[in-house]
Amino acid sequence: MKIGILKETQKGENRVSLSPNIAKQLIEKGFEVIIEESAGANSSYKDSDFKEAGASIEKRGVVFKEANVLIKINPFDEEDLKLVDERHILISQLYHKSNPELIESIEKKGATAFSMDAMPRISRAQDMDVLSSQNNLAGYKAVILGAYEMTKIFPLMMTAAGTITPSKVLIFGVGVAGLQAIATAKRLGAVVEATDIRSETKEQAESLGAKFISVDNEGETSEGGYAKEASEDYMNKQKEAVNKSLFQADLVITTANIPGRKAPTLITKEQVEQMKNGAVIIDLAAAQGGNCELSKLNEKVLVNGVKIIGTTIAPESVSTNASELYAKNIYNFLVHLTEDAKFKWDVDEEITNDTLIVKDGVIRNT
Ligand code: NAD
Repeated sequence: MKIGILKETQKGENRVSLSPNIAKQLIEKGFEVIIEESAGANSSYKDSDFKEAGASIEKRGVVFKEANVLIKINPFDEEDLKLVDERHILISQLYHKSNPELIESIEKKGATAFSMDAMPRISRAQDMDVLSSQNNLAGYKAVILGAYEMTKIFPLMMTAAGTITPSKVLIFGVGVAGLQAIATAKRLGAVVEATDIRSETKEQAESLGAKFISVDNEGETSEGGYAKEASEDYMNKQKEAVNKSLFQADLVITTANIPGRKAPTLITKEQVEQMKNGAVIIDLAAAQGGNCELSKLNEKVLVNGVKIIGTTIAPESVSTNASELYAKNIYNFLVHLTEDAKFKWDVDEEITNDTLIVKDGVIRNT
C-alpha cells in the first residue's frame, strides 16, 4: 500500500498529517510513504527529514498518481478532488454531517473515504481520536493566548511594592480542551472556575483544582460522551449560576460544542456589557458559530472594554506537536484497519463502520 501525504492548502494551516518519526514507523510496518514536496515545512519538518525516514518526496501531481491512500488533516477540497479517482482511499477530517456536498463529490469520483472526526468515543479508539489530540493542544494554547492579551498576570505575587492578587479564569465546557485549559491556567497560578452541562465533568474539573459551577441539568441528556443541545430552561439556569463569576473574571475561555450543530450561545451581549473592563474572552467555538454572541471568527472584537477573540487557530499554532500527535493517531488508525499493510475491510467492526463514510463510490454514513 502506498500512502501519499498531501501538503495542507487551507489558509493559516501549518500542520502536516505525518511526521518523519511516524513515517519511519509506517515504513517499518511495510507501508510505502510518499510525501508532497515541503508538506512539513511549517511544522519544522524538512523534506530531508522524511527522506532520512525512508519516505520519497514528490510533486503534488505525482503523489495523487502513485499513492492509493491519500492523507490530509483538513477536508479534501474541490481542487484535490480534481485529481482523485476510484483507486483512491481518502483519509482526513471530513465533518461529513455538515459537509454533504463534499461527500457527494467523493461519491461521484467513485472513491473511498474515511473521516477521522467520526471516530467513536470508545476506550479502544482513544489513541486514534484526532479531536482529542488536537483539542488538548487548543486548550493549552487558549490560555497562553489569553495570558498574552490580558493586562494582568496570573499568579499571586507578593512584592515589596505591593501584593498582586491572582487572576480569575472561567472556563465553559469541560471536555478535552476545557480540561487542558483548567490545568494550564492552574499551573500559571490563576484561580479557576469551570462549568459544563455534563455533571460527570465536576469531578474531573475539581481533580485539576478548579471550582465547578453546577447547574441543575435534570432532563438534559448526552449521547456517546457528547453533549446534546441544551433546553432554554437549562441555558437560563446556567446564566444565573455563572453570572457572578463571569462578571468578575479576567479571562474566560469557551469550548462548548455540540457535534454536528451550531455551538450553543453561552455569553450574550448583555452579559458581556456587565463584565469587567479589561477582561478577555477566548472563544474556541468560533468556527461553529461561537459561544459568545459577539465573537467573530479570527477577529478581535472590543466591546465595553472586553476583548473577544474568536479563534480556531490553536492547534495550527503549535504545529510541530499537533502534527506529531495527528500522525500518531493516523498510525494507530492504519494499523487498526490493516493486516500486513493491506486493508481488512472489516466493515462491521465499530471503528471501521463509524469512520468509513464512502466505500467505492457508495455513501454509507450520513
Ligand atoms: P466537545 O468538544 O464536543 O464539547 C466540549 C464540552 O462542551 C463538552 O464537555 C460538552 O459537554 C460541553 N457543552 C456542550 N454544550 C454545553 C452547554 N450548553 N453548556 C456547557 N457545556 C456544554 O467535547 P469533547 O471535548 O470532544 O469531549 C466530550 C467527552 O468525550 C469528554 O468527556 C471526553 O473525555 C470524552 N472523550 C472520549 C473519548 C474516547 O473514549 N475515545 C475520546 C474523546 C473524548
